[in-house]
Amino acid sequence: MKYNRCGKSGLLLPQISLGLWHNFGSVDVFAHAENIVKSAFDQGITHFDLANNYGPVAGSSETNFGNILKNNFQGFLRDEIVISTKAGYKMWDGPYGDWGSRKHLLSSLDQSLKRLQLEYVDVFYSHRFDPLTPLEETMMALDYAVRSGKALYAGISNYTADQTKEATSILKQLGTPCLIHQAKYSMLERGPETELLEVLDRRGVGCIAFSPLAQGLLTDKYLKGIPKNSRAANPNGFLKVDVITNPLLQKIKALNKIAQERQQSLAQMALAWLLKDNRITSVLIGASSVEQLNNNIASLNDLDFSKIELNLISDILLN
Ligand code: NDP
Repeated sequence: MKYNRCGKSGLLLPQISLGLWHNFGSVDVFAHAENIVKSAFDQGITHFDLANNYGPVAGSSETNFGNILKNNFQGFLRDEIVISTKAGYKMWDGPYGDWGSRKHLLSSLDQSLKRLQLEYVDVFYSHRFDPLTPLEETMMALDYAVRSGKALYAGISNYTADQTKEATSILKQLGTPCLIHQAKYSMLERGPETELLEVLDRRGVGCIAFSPLAQGLLTDKYLKGIPKNSRAANPNGFLKVDVITNPLLQKIKALNKIAQERQQSLAQMALAWLLKDNRITSVLIGASSVEQLNNNIASLNDLDFSKIELNLISDILLN
């Protein structure tokens, strides 16, 4: 594993991080989830990403991860891993169960720490911008989380470039610099290229790309239909079958051909394509098996693209 510096901070993150949004909840097989986490750590993935509501049921990914830690990572190993969690999306009923108030963020962080059986997380994120709460309040809650020792660093996720400028300025004034922005970024979701990546680079904030495989679309999984064991076929999955249209499949097939010519799987090429940009600190993958994890980690063996390959890919993505 190689480690990249996260923005201008002192923290190094692995080029590949593991997210526990799907496959680690109470509906999943615990031993299977535990194997994926252990295998990831054994291969140098030191960063695990959670949120209050990951599951299903909401919260159960944190509970399971807490038990995995207890079973396998006792004592000094805690200092060898970076654990992130977030608050902002709906977690419990009533007016304090979501968004960006101090009430929601700090209560949610306490709940997460209980489920994780930890005294602190490494990174605490505001999961989304709240248009109805003063941004100062949300950022002061992140600053407090860090000052109280419940988190080591503060992050933001799903903020636009303008919202990011404002949030990072406030955090800087408060004395808790923004460590990282978690943004949806893949060959199929290129929004951050417009302005966000430049803003983050100028401000010394790291960028971690979530859903870098577009939830599995950027793999060979859907080339011949929708397999039973796929996120698109899973009633608990977030990927909807109707997203997989014919034009999209043509695009994926064309990308797959280039990947084959590079002697990579499509998943490997999709991850390498993101990591070629040194503004990307880490790609935040999901995996439903150790085989997928291993396949994805092997992307690091070839992160170089020729100009011809980049142009071919660019043409496919623009069409
Ligand atoms: P990916 O785009 O990496 O999709 C992961 C899924 O793709 C897997 O569960 C699996 O699906 C399939 N897959 C992975 N590798 C392979 C492979 N080599 N071959 C074939 N199929 C493969 O990421 P996710 O969408 O899971 O998101 C990753 C993480 O990002 C989350 O766990 C979470 O931590 C974070 N996230 C953050 C958000 C935010 O708002 N901040 C929102 C969403 C995610 P299958 O089950 O079909 O096998």
